[in-house]
Amino acid sequence: MHELSIAQSIMERVEAIRVEHEAPGIASVQLQVGTLSGVDPYALEMAFTVAVEGTLYADTRWDIQRIPASVDCRSCGKTTTPDGPFPICMSCDSTDIEIAAGRELMIETIEVDRDEESNNV
Ligand SMILES: [Zn+2]
Repeated sequence: MHELSIAQSIMERVEAIRVEHEAPGIASVQLQVGTLSGVDPYALEMAFTVAVEGTLYADTRWDIQRIPASVDCRSCGKTTTPDGPFPICMSCDSTDIEIAAGRELMIETIEVDRDEESNNV
C-alpha cells in the first residue's frame, strides 16, 4: 500500500520535530494533500490508523486537508481546477499546463502535547 509508506515517512518527520522540541507527545498534526499529489486522503487516513498502532502517536489526531488543484493553461491562458487526479485544462482539455497548486503533500501544523503549547512548522 503506497499510502502506508507515505504515512510512515510523515511520522518520521513528525518524530524528528517532536525530538527537537523535546515534547512527550504530539496532540495533532495537520497535513495538506493536493488533489494532484497522487495520494488519496482517505487511504492516507486509513494508513495512519495502521501506522500509529503501538507507537506514541496512537492518540495523535491526523487532520488531512485536501488542497484543490489549480492549473494554468498554456494553450488558452485560463486557470482552472481539474476535478480528477489528472492535470488537464478544464476549459480546452489541453495537457499543456502549469500546475499552480494541488501537488502539495506537506505538514502544515504540528501541535505538541506539552502545556497546550503549539508550534507552527
Ligand atoms: Zn486551456
